[in-house]
Amino acid sequence: MTALSAAARGQIRESGLTVAGYTRHHFPDGKWLGDKCGCTDDRCAGYHHDDADDCGCLPVLIGQLAAIVPDVTP
Ligand SMILES: [Zn+2]
Ligand SMILES: [Zn+2]
Repeated sequence: MTALSAAARGQIRESGLTVAGYTRHHFPDGKWLGDKCGCTDDRCAGYHHDDADDCGCLPVLIGQLAAIVPDVTP
């Protein structure tokens, strides 16, 4: 199992969501099973983009969640 990277956590928090809320939205048992970059695909970093690069999926996923849950507060 991969943990979310500090960069991914930072981006989630900056958006106004919580890391726990983001995780539970995608994985209802609260365990992050996606990739460390924040993508729900566990083969994203190193596959869709270089390991060190920012994930292109994360802002999209955050945007989708923010649209569904407009009243999420940290
Ligand atoms: Zn991805
Ligand atoms: Zn990624």
